[in-house]
Amino acid sequence: FPPDKIRNFACIAHVDHGKSTLCDRMLEMTGTIPPAAVSRDQPEQEAKNEQVLDTLKVERERGITVRAQSATMFHRHSDGAEYMLNLIDTPGHVDFASEVLRSLLASQGVILLVDAAQGVQAQTLTVLDEALKRNLTVVGAVNKWDLVKDDGRGEAVLSELSDLLGCAPSDILRISAKTGWGVDSVLDAVVERIPPPPPRASEDVKEPFRGLVFDSWYDSFRGVVSLVSVFEGEVKKGDSITSTITGNDYTVLDLGILSPREISIAEHPDAHSRSLRKGMAGWVVRRSGPDVRSNRAAFLGDTFHLTSAPTPPLESFKPLKSMVFAGIYPLDPGGFTKLEEAIRRLTLTDRSVTSNRESSTFLGQGFRLGFNGSLHMDVFRQRLEDEFGEEVIVTRPLVPVKLTFKDDTERTIDNPADFPDPGGLLKVVRVQEPMIRATIVAPDEYTGAIINLCTSHRGVPLSHTYLSGSAATSTATGTSTALKPRVTMLYSLPLSSIITSFHSSLKSISSGFASFDYEEAPYEDSDLCRMNILVNGQKVDALCTVAHRSEVQKEGREWAKRLREVIPRQQHEVVIQAAVGSTILARERIAPFRKDVTAGLYGGHYERKMKHLAKQKAGKARLKERSIGRITIPTEAFHAVLGGQ
Ligand code: GDP
Ligand code: MG
Repeated sequence: FPPDKIRNFACIAHVDHGKSTLCDRMLEMTGTIPPAAVSRDQPEQEAKNEQVLDTLKVERERGITVRAQSATMFHRHSDGAEYMLNLIDTPGHVDFASEVLRSLLASQGVILLVDAAQGVQAQTLTVLDEALKRNLTVVGAVNKWDLVKDDGRGEAVLSELSDLLGCAPSDILRISAKTGWGVDSVLDAVVERIPPPPPRASEDVKEPFRGLVFDSWYDSFRGVVSLVSVFEGEVKKGDSITSTITGNDYTVLDLGILSPREISIAEHPDAHSRSLRKGMAGWVVRRSGPDVRSNRAAFLGDTFHLTSAPTPPLESFKPLKSMVFAGIYPLDPGGFTKLEEAIRRLTLTDRSVTSNRESSTFLGQGFRLGFNGSLHMDVFRQRLEDEFGEEVIVTRPLVPVKLTFKDDTERTIDNPADFPDPGGLLKVVRVQEPMIRATIVAPDEYTGAIINLCTSHRGVPLSHTYLSGSAATSTATGTSTALKPRVTMLYSLPLSSIITSFHSSLKSISSGFASFDYEEAPYEDSDLCRMNILVNGQKVDALCTVAHRSEVQKEGREWAKRLREVIPRQQHEVVIQAAVGSTILARERIAPFRKDVTAGLYGGHYERKMKHLAKQKAGKARLKERSIGRITIPTEAFHAVLGGQ
């Protein structure tokens, strides 16, 4: 395929604005997948081709795209020529930003999709920023035009987007990904506006192969499968290729394109078509020595070259640092080995997760895993359950905390148990925690509530601006259906304050209208301390946490209370305490059984909670237990208290 007839592009948008639907529709319209049996009069039958690219169970269930997926389609343009379009569907959530960056790196342009009913949202702004930084061509499109009524709302969103992109409103496409209306204009715009892959040296000069790895996973039948964007030259079956990162050599066993299923081209009847050539994106299966199954086997952002023709690596992306850490333990105390294997296999498909062994006196052997964010953590936990049947306890998440000691040494900790107690803190001159720059977009009427929320999460306002499109339109039309003005608020917040309930609180105080996204910001000084939870005077390491001094009192009370509700009555008295050093913040007590009590062994809250849990787990193994001294706590109870955080 001549490089000037190739287009590599990605779709970017805020969650639910219709990326996956648009991708499906484009695949259908180019004949890449058969059209869904949609009868216009029977819209309820439309589910057939829904979300072809979202193949993980968790993606279909939650309606989010986790992994970048790519698909090749062939499109005959009105100029008569056939084009190869390589489409990359990107995840829509901030936690999967590394996937978004990865797909942007492999493309020359993006379709920026905005929902006609929702308008520009926080994530629209942050992903657009990223695309512009990379000098990508941006094609704006307003989706869900089928829902647009004659109230000026659609036009307002159109002008909002054209303002943002600095183009004429007429350059913004209007489409309905659902019905397919206008989707042909997207294909045309991809061909006409997005440039082909960068120009190459002249065709006669045989360039050596250089390819960028933008995704990789381990397939137990075939070996390591990598998605590769070919920047120069070509690669075919049997070639020996070398990784610039590991220096290892691999043999290409099979290769092909994604359309969207994997199609092998290794034995293509036309000899000319048996290779992945410059400008193409495809998959490569390779085998090598002992490292192939290990984590180091396939780095994202790695460059492959022919073993016989070494080249320097391509510009790559920085490996994303893990920003949220948690301990992961098997729910079943004897389940460590099984969990270890599941985590090993899952981290091969999700390279952004870091993993180290750790052990807890209370929970036994487990892992400390690092994630990009809390949704990422949640998705990982769910994949462990869906794909490996692993039920786990996840301890309280912690962001990396930097300590500087008197002797000028520095240390970053990812486990609350490593945070010094008040005595140890005397040797620490500086404690820093990671900050974020949050973008919040919301209708003006929620501004007050949002400011309160951010303030209570230790936020500092940076700016407050109106989205020009909507403000302009609302004053221009001045009718009762006019758009409410919307604001963009920038806040500086500690990352730790948004990893648990911030997002859901924001949604609820704004009736779902506020959207939120963030970028990393530098670390800042912070007054943090470690809070311990004690049961009958013994520290429960898996429950200790690092919190800001201004919040620790409230947290301590909440945790003690929550524990009282889930720990069953015992033969002995149970005393639960939350403490910083020797200062007790909260205390709760569970009275022991009385001798004459025979029925109703468990008191109020606990009984209700356990009934509920038992129902959920009906048919599963009996309750597993762990103990602290003479106190026995069903692991399920522990799970419940951490799950509710
Ligand atoms: P993504 O999160 O950006 O991938 O969004 P999806 O493609 O999953 O779409 C989110 C929801 O919007 C789904 O329920 C789609 O059926 C719906 N949707 C997508 N495009 C359109 C459209 O053009 N019109 C209407 N009415 N609904 C749409
Ligand atoms: Mg999607």
